Amino acid sequence: MTLHATRREMLKWTGLAAGATLLPSVVIADEVPPRKRVLRLAHLTDMHIQPELAAAEGVTACLHLLQSLADGPELILSGGDTIMDSLATPTDRTKLQWELWTSTLKNNCSLRVESCLGNHDIWGWDKKLSGTTGDEPEWGKKWACDVFGIERTFRSFDHAGWHFIVLDSMMPHDETVYTARLDDAQWDWLQNDLAATQPQAPVLVLSHIPILSACVLAGWSEIKPGDITVSHQLMHTDVARLRDLFWKHPNVKLCLSGHLHLRERVEYNGVTYLCNGAVSGGWWKGDHQQTKAGYAVIDLFADGTFEDQYLPYGWQVKV
Ligand SMILES: [Zn+2]
Repeated sequence: MTLHATRREMLKWTGLAAGATLLPSVVIADEVPPRKRVLRLAHLTDMHIQPELAAAEGVTACLHLLQSLADGPELILSGGDTIMDSLATPTDRTKLQWELWTSTLKNNCSLRVESCLGNHDIWGWDKKLSGTTGDEPEWGKKWACDVFGIERTFRSFDHAGWHFIVLDSMMPHDETVYTARLDDAQWDWLQNDLAATQPQAPVLVLSHIPILSACVLAGWSEIKPGDITVSHQLMHTDVARLRDLFWKHPNVKLCLSGHLHLRERVEYNGVTYLCNGAVSGGWWKGDHQQTKAGYAVIDLFADGTFEDQYLPYGWQVKV
């Protein structure tokens, strides 16, 4: 009985196997490998740390929260405007703010932090209000670079299979102190850096000022009859040539920024321009328009895709 059944079973399976060879192959959805997450990072921008309004307490709360997540980030991208202001601020007050940032980070963060400069991190470009001459050794971008431990305000590095580009958005401008664009040296460097990047390596670009923004039209602009005017300090004025450069490099996937204290996501030509709200919210006085004080957690995948979420950290205004 057992032998008979076994033989019948064998004939049955042999027949099926023979038949199966004639069938077209079928892809089963469950067998498609899932995309592989290679990095979870946090984007913190516009911290505007200062002794007032419990700003250091807020930055500390944000740092503790993100490091306590069950599946937390491994890297922090710090998006600039780290201190409240040094652009139009004298030496002592600038020193106080940088010391507050350094001690807050040292005492409350064990993660790798990669920083870019914001306009408020530049010391003394407004000579009149800062009382500087321009001859001070730490004048301009040098002080922030020293604090961040970087040699140059723009740079790139590779991590987890992605290529990270950190830009310096602020160039001197006589009448209004700074304007948002790359100078010729940085532009040449960026073209060469992208040309030297393996085409299969996805690229993330970090800048303080958005390269491209839509919410700037609603949240920050001057609306005159017939026109909406966007200030040259709120969005990159060289957006068109950057767009054309990115078009030549389809591995540029994500451009991260801050500066506006507003959260938005713009998709254009295959690039996502993600501006995140500020850790300081409305400079520590609550929400900025409809965006709460918060930070973003971003997952990067090996195939060049990403997922992002904006996380308010529950900041309550301290008076
Ligand atoms: Zn800014």
